[in-house]
Amino acid sequence: KTDHNLDIADLAERVQKGERRALARAITLVESARSDHKAQAVALLDLLPKARQALRIGLSGTPGVGKSTFIESFGMMLVAQGLKVAVLAVDPSSTRSGGSILGDKTRMDRLSRDPAAFIRPSPSQTHLGGVARRSREAVALCEGAGFDVVLIETVGVGQSETVVAQMADIFLLLLAPAGGDELQGVKRGIMEIADMILINKADGDLKPAAMRTCADYAGALRLLRKRAQDPPGYPKAMMVSALQEDGLDAVWADLNSLRDWRQEQGFWERTRADQARYWFEQDVRNGLLAQLETPQARGALMRLGEEVAAGHTAPAAAAAAFLTSLSKSDTSKP
Ligand code: GDP
Repeated sequence: KTDHNLDIADLAERVQKGERRALARAITLVESARSDHKAQAVALLDLLPKARQALRIGLSGTPGVGKSTFIESFGMMLVAQGLKVAVLAVDPSSTRSGGSILGDKTRMDRLSRDPAAFIRPSPSQTHLGGVARRSREAVALCEGAGFDVVLIETVGVGQSETVVAQMADIFLLLLAPAGGDELQGVKRGIMEIADMILINKADGDLKPAAMRTCADYAGALRLLRKRAQDPPGYPKAMMVSALQEDGLDAVWADLNSLRDWRQEQGFWERTRADQARYWFEQDVRNGLLAQLETPQARGALMRLGEEVAAGHTAPAAAAAAFLTSLSKSDTSKP
């Protein structure tokens, strides 16, 4: 662990060349909770070319729906077209002790062994905000490393889909064929952020159910309020079989026409600008919250809290005094 000797400029150069080991190292850096690592990560991200852009695809679905099978088949199809594909996972349920739903690298066996692909499991943390920020920076690193497509996979835990949508250009929701004719209790909020709903496992005995489910969702999508960034026919529902690699080329073709349309209409850049602003504000918010965790801040909070509790100081006055001392102590830092 020679972090002091870590040459950020050298690492940035190797990331730019697309060296997978350097990229893995760089992601480890942005995932680190240590403040010196964080400073290095910021410096590293700053050194990467901003002009490089990948197609960022968010992908969500409950466990067992076929996400890893889809990513493997879809990723291999893209790799065969000469594209470089990165896969990142955002899994707030994963912790250091294991239990990650998306962490298992062996799930995408062929893709993980392909030199044109890069697969990274979710960083370990229970707090979604932390996982999200680091994943967002990992996306930036993958772009800097010259990947053409970045797939960001998540399970529908808490707000993880909303957070992934904030780092994706296009959001895909993967569903399985339903038994009955009722919708699978998909949260309305998820329907509203999806650009394409893919009914997976549309093969064999499941095909008729997949057709029904697809028609149900196509109908449900038509009832949603129209979004400005959607061309006619979107958001759409379509059938795929990740296992039989069926319908994947159609998904890719539709993704591209959606991208072209949004780029022509100016929605593409606008969404990216909004997302950048969102992550900036998240970072400011997180930075402010982190300042409350310093020993001095904790001490001051405790002291002022006692004064407030004893009735010596009004809550608002104590809060104002605390915030003033916080901003003072901060500007005195080098
Ligand atoms: P994940 O938990 O969402 O990543 O789901 P997996 O990709 O691990 O798939 C769960 C199960 O569904 C596995 O047994 C897969 O073989 C199966 N599966 C995935 N895609 C398909 C498909 O297109 N058709 C069928 N019949 N089974 C599939």
